[in-house]
Amino acid sequence: MTATQTQWPFFTYRGNELHVEGVPLRQVAETVGTPAYVYSRAALEERFDSLATAFAQVPHLICYSVKANSNLAVLRTFARRGGGFDIVSAGELYRVQQAGGDPAKVVYSGVGKSPEEVRTALRAGILLFNVESLAELEMLDQVAAQEGRIAPVALRINPDVDPQTHPYIATGLRKSKFGVPMADAVDAYRHARGFRHLRIIGLDCHIGSQLTSLAPFRDALHRVRDLWQRLVREGFHIEVIDVGGGLGIRYRDENPPSFAEYAQTVIDALQPFSGTIVLEPGRSLVGNAGVLLTRVQYLKQTGEKTFVIVDAAMNDLIRPSLYGSYQEILPVQPSNHQESAIVDVVGPVCESGDFLARDRELPPVRPGDLLAVMSAGAYGFVMASNYNTRPRAAEVLVDGNVFSLVRLRETYPDLLRGETIPTWLD
Ligand SMILES: *Cc1c(COP(=O)(O)O)cnc(C)c1O
Repeated sequence: MTATQTQWPFFTYRGNELHVEGVPLRQVAETVGTPAYVYSRAALEERFDSLATAFAQVPHLICYSVKANSNLAVLRTFARRGGGFDIVSAGELYRVQQAGGDPAKVVYSGVGKSPEEVRTALRAGILLFNVESLAELEMLDQVAAQEGRIAPVALRINPDVDPQTHPYIATGLRKSKFGVPMADAVDAYRHARGFRHLRIIGLDCHIGSQLTSLAPFRDALHRVRDLWQRLVREGFHIEVIDVGGGLGIRYRDENPPSFAEYAQTVIDALQPFSGTIVLEPGRSLVGNAGVLLTRVQYLKQTGEKTFVIVDAAMNDLIRPSLYGSYQEILPVQPSNHQESAIVDVVGPVCESGDFLARDRELPPVRPGDLLAVMSAGAYGFVMASNYNTRPRAAEVLVDGNVFSLVRLRETYPDLLRGETIPTWLD
């Protein structure tokens, strides 16, 4: 069993036990129970620093995409390193502020910002609104006027390139709901210029998630650069180009570009732009910095299949069910005596789609064994639900030889909070 594959340098076997940095996952399970998300501070920082190094030669700002993993301790980790944040709701802004993030380094994306959310963000003094439609421009101008403020704006352009990723996470195609179509971009900018409470300072795009090749980035950014040059000729002062996020990670055998290769591609594609490049990485910073720790409850043999029934389910980690995605599963304390078997790893939720792995070769496991679902740091806990009235998992952050509970496991009263039975049902 080799967990020392390159994508998980901080998740390694020591003395036949899987550790996160210096902490045995068994110890985490004994302390906080299962299921639990466990993140590595060193892994988060290594990713952030390595991206910062890759872009060190140009003015840039790393705005971590909060939606990938919005735990306050994760946000604080990046804030301490000078990171900014990419938000898609006022709720995420609230998190950033509670985590000690700097609102002046916040960019705000999303097709459905409400006037109240925009007002909150204006008052907080964020860096940039990534506006996705003409209707939103108008709304933003109105709210800014009411607030007596000038809103800093970039238009999100849809460059119409195929990111060659899962259709649910492709966002830069013409048929997608995101951004202003490239063909309408210049007109949109001219239109934007007419609003008195907007300052047009940027150009934004984000083409999708889990991209494992550079070509779509290059294609999209060449179009962005051409548009930028056109805008310069029209007298716009574009200080910021926001290139979005989307760089993929290795879950199984993908070979995504390194940060260095990605940075070179971005920088080259935008030449000779010399303003600030804003980056919105999500998955590439946190995806391989976390695992979902779960315990085997039962083994079940049916005619054709062996099911390993664990205490984590699709409500805890929906990626396998939603996207059919592969996440590696490693035994926390492997036994090397018997042969591996082909199994389905499933949870207790009452849906056939409730699985963490299908037809997966796993070493022999027994009830009570602990498993680590790898690469669960991005789009894991944040997509968890209470389906089947299941409390959401605990979250833990490891730092060297110590760890802290950074989110309590939900309790049953937590799950009922806000619900009432009307008196007329007495
Ligand atoms: C989701 C999202 C990101 C982050 O995407 P990753 O693939 O996790 O890097 C960045 N920007 C926007 C606008 C997004 O919607």
